[in-house]
Amino acid sequence: MKQLLTALFISFSFTSFAQSNIMYDVVLKGGRVIDPETKLDAIRNVGIINNRIAQISSEPLQGKQVIDVSGLVVAPGFIDLHIHGRSNVEQEYQLHDGVTTALELEWGIEHLGKWYESRKGKALINYGASVNWPFERFKAIGKYQSAVDSLLQMTLKGEANIGAMTNTILRAAAETIPPDALNQTLANIKASLAEGGIGIGAPIGYLPKTNPTEMYGVFQLAGELNTLVFTHVRNPDIISIQEVIADAVLTHAPLHIVHINSMSLGNIRLSLEMVNAANKKGFDISTELYPYTAASTSLQSAMFDEGWQQRLGISYGDLQWVATGERLTKESFETYRKTSGVVIIHVMKPEWIKMGIAAPGVMIGSDGMTYAKLAHPRTAGTFSRVLGKYVREDKVIDLNTAIEKMTLLPAKRLENIAPSMRFKGRIQVGADADITIFNPNTIMDKATFEKGLEFSAGIEYVMVNGTFVLKNGKTVSDIFPGQAVYGKFKK
Ligand SMILES: [Zn+2]
Repeated sequence: MKQLLTALFISFSFTSFAQSNIMYDVVLKGGRVIDPETKLDAIRNVGIINNRIAQISSEPLQGKQVIDVSGLVVAPGFIDLHIHGRSNVEQEYQLHDGVTTALELEWGIEHLGKWYESRKGKALINYGASVNWPFERFKAIGKYQSAVDSLLQMTLKGEANIGAMTNTILRAAAETIPPDALNQTLANIKASLAEGGIGIGAPIGYLPKTNPTEMYGVFQLAGELNTLVFTHVRNPDIISIQEVIADAVLTHAPLHIVHINSMSLGNIRLSLEMVNAANKKGFDISTELYPYTAASTSLQSAMFDEGWQQRLGISYGDLQWVATGERLTKESFETYRKTSGVVIIHVMKPEWIKMGIAAPGVMIGSDGMTYAKLAHPRTAGTFSRVLGKYVREDKVIDLNTAIEKMTLLPAKRLENIAPSMRFKGRIQVGADADITIFNPNTIMDKATFEKGLEFSAGIEYVMVNGTFVLKNGKTVSDIFPGQAVYGKFKK
C-alpha cells in the first residue's frame, strides 16, 4: 500500500507542474483538511478524479464541480466496524452520521456470499461482513438445517438479524459440539471466508455455554489463517475478557473485542489496561466502544437467562422495551421474553464511557441496531456524539484524535485482512474519495432514548467513492455508490 500510495503520489507530483491545467471531477475548496496519518491539519483544496483523491493543495484547483467547504472540516469518511442494520434504511442514518463504510463484524452475516451478491449496486455506503461463526456452527450440526435454510429469505431481503437467529436456533443450543461437527464448522468458516468474509464474528456471549474447546478451535483457525476474530465475550466480566485474550495469545489469532464498555462495566480500567499490556508485548489485540451509557440487544438472548440482574448489576426498571419505550417490570419482562423484541439496557456510568473514549488506540464502533423508531440512539448518532459531546462540549479528547479513532484506526485494524481498507481512512493522494465534511461547531447527535432515531446535525457533505451521497445536509436520491469490502481470502 505504502508503495502504491508513493507511486501514485510521485505520478501526481510530476503532473503538478501542469496542475493548473488539470480539470478535476470535483474540487472541495478551502476546507480544513484533517488526515490522521500524515497529521495534516490545514486549509487545503482537494481534487478528486473518478473514485480517488488526486490532489491536495494550497493552490487553487479547477473542477467540473467546485464546492466551497470553507469553515468545514474535510475528514476521511468514518468507518464503523460494528453495525447490525443491513439495509439502506439504516445506511441512511449512518450516512447522516458521517459514516462511509459500515461493517457487520461482531456477529457476521449468514449465507454470506449470497448476501454480498444481494447488495451489489444497491448500497448508499460501503458494506461488508465477517463470517458468522454461530451460523456456520449450526450449519455443521445436521439437525438445525431447516432453521439455517429458513434464514436465507430474510438475508436476501436484508432482514435477517441476531433476533431471527435467537428465535430459531440459539435458544435451543446448549450442547457441546461433536468433534466432527467442529471440524465441519471450521471448514464452513473457511468456505465463507473464501466468499469474502472479513474475519470471523465470534459472539460467544450469545452462546455462553459454548465449550472452551470449540472456541479455542475457532481461534486456532484464525491464528493459522492470520485473520481476525471479532468477539462479544462470554459474559460482561473480566474473566471473559481474559478468556479471549488467552485464546488469542496462545493461538496468535489477531483479536478485536467489541464494545469494551458493556463487556467490562465497572472493570473498564482493568480491561483497557490488559489490552494495552497485550499490545506492548506485541500481541495484535484491539478494542472499541460506543459513546452511550446503555447497551441494547434482543430480550430473548442468553444475556437475560437466570441470574442476569446479578451479572449486569441492574433490575427490571433499567430495561427499556424498544417497541413502546416503556420501562419493564417483573411482569412485563416475563411476558415480552416469551415474544420477540429488543431492549435498551441502562447499565453503564458516564465516567466509564469517558475513560474508554479517552484511552489511546480504542476505536469508535456504533453497534448500530436494525431500524426501529425507538431503536438505541447509537444506531443514528454515535460518531456525531463523539465529535459534539465528547470533543466540543466535554473536551475528553481533541478533534484530530477523535477523527483518528473513527477513520485511520479502524482502516489499519482491518487492512491486513481486508486489503481495500488500505485506501480508506485517509485524506491522501491515491486514497479512495470517501470523505465526510462537517461543521465542528454544530455537529451533534439528535437521536435519543426517549424520542428515538433522528439524523445527526452538522454533517454537510458525504462522498462515497467519489460520488456525493449527502449534499447540504440532505441525502442525494437514487445514488448507490457503496462498494463491497471483502476479506483477503475472497475467490
Ligand atoms: Zn455485542
